[in-house]
Amino acid sequence: MHSNASSKPSVLPYKELEESVWKKDICAGCRACITVCPGNTLAFDGKEHKPYQFTPCVDCKACLEVCPRTPANYAAFRSTEIIGPYLDIKSARAGVEVERAQNGGVVTALLTAALEEGLVDCALVMGSDRWIQKAHPMIAYYPEDLSKAAGSKYDSNGVLEALKTVASDDSIRSVAVVGTPCAIQSIGLLRASTNEYAMKLAKKVRFAIGLFCFEVFDDAMVEEVSKRLGVPTWRITKMNAGEGKMTVTLRGGEVKQLPLSSLGDYVRKGCKVCPDFTSKSADISVGSVGSKPGLSTVIVRSAVGLGLFEIALDMQFIETVPGVDSVAIEKVGKLKLKRNGLQ
Ligand SMILES: Cc1cc2nc3c(=O)[nH]c(=O)nc-3n(C[C@H](O)[C@H](O)[C@H](O)COP(=O)(O)OP(=O)(O)OC[C@H]3O[C@@H](n4cnc5c(N)ncnc54)[C@H](O)[C@@H]3O)c2cc1C
Ligand code: SF4
Ligand code: SF4
Ligand code: SF4
Repeated sequence: MHSNASSKPSVLPYKELEESVWKKDICAGCRACITVCPGNTLAFDGKEHKPYQFTPCVDCKACLEVCPRTPANYAAFRSTEIIGPYLDIKSARAGVEVERAQNGGVVTALLTAALEEGLVDCALVMGSDRWIQKAHPMIAYYPEDLSKAAGSKYDSNGVLEALKTVASDDSIRSVAVVGTPCAIQSIGLLRASTNEYAMKLAKKVRFAIGLFCFEVFDDAMVEEVSKRLGVPTWRITKMNAGEGKMTVTLRGGEVKQLPLSSLGDYVRKGCKVCPDFTSKSADISVGSVGSKPGLSTVIVRSAVGLGLFEIALDMQFIETVPGVDSVAIEKVGKLKLKRNGLQ
């Protein structure tokens, strides 16, 4: 019998993720590893906010390629640059009113242009159960679906679950994805990868629209806010995290606030090492900082992003307003890096 004793047994890729990401509590919770996995080997533990392995692994390494938190990928994303590369930066708003828009409704307007022009088959966004205010990934095929999904959801960054759903559907050729910087970093890694499973998925993503993001909270945050403010969750129409406060708008227009610092225990662990505030890997990034109330700051980064932005302008789905306060963006971005021990 041939002895194999001298060759070192190879470690399965998911085991590498387990050791270098999951066990170190630095998982961003982006679900890219689960989305790309051809064997459905991984699933997400919503309580622990990280994946786990539950079926045999076929050793394809796709998960390692697309994870933004492996030591190599994390090192590549670590940078003290806040705004990152761009072709254009503008304050903007939607040309028509977007009900429930978080800021200027620009993300909804860009996606509406993409759907109406037939540039994508669907948009992957975050919907919400408005009774309990719990976010869930959603596939929007029509502009009406988009208006239901407008507004920021602070309790989930799991939009790539929707990409997994459309991955095996051959009738869906191209999608727009809206994501937090970590999800958009994963899309950047998908696009750069030569792994066959990563490439298959990357081919479907025509537009990656990134949001600015300081942090995401765990599922219990909304319930805690509702308890502390003494209002049932169904009375909440909007939440906005910014300028040190969680601002909650209720049905009827009443506004209540809590200091964000009082919700510190609910911030996801993986957010506390996050190096990206402005979604630097996106085609277009959108946030509120840097623009006046009722407007969104739009950072157009790639040629693809510029194409979509120009089409939306042509269709008068968005309009721009002069002046972006880049210093304000830098300031909040640096605050995030400092909080996360990266500066
Ligand atoms: C968790 C989180 C933290 C943020 N933190 C900041 C911040 O600190 N500073 C800042 O300037 N901006 C921040 N933003 C971005 C800001 O709140 C707005 O989302 C952005 O300005 C776009 O506004 P809009 O009116 O153009 O978008 P809208 O027209 O309201 O559309 C928003 C789109 O984003 C989708 N979406 C909402 N939540 C998520 C999510 N969690 N993951 C993926 N897609 C989602 C919606 O489904 C919708 O399609 C944050 C957003 C999120 C989700
Ligand atoms: S992506 Fe490939 S290597 Fe990773 S867990 Fe799935 S089958 Fe294993
Ligand atoms: S950071 Fe994303 S890709 Fe990496 S292990 Fe966590 S969920 Fe998977
Ligand atoms: S802070 Fe935002 S981008 Fe960073 S890991 Fe958390 S959800 Fe992702």
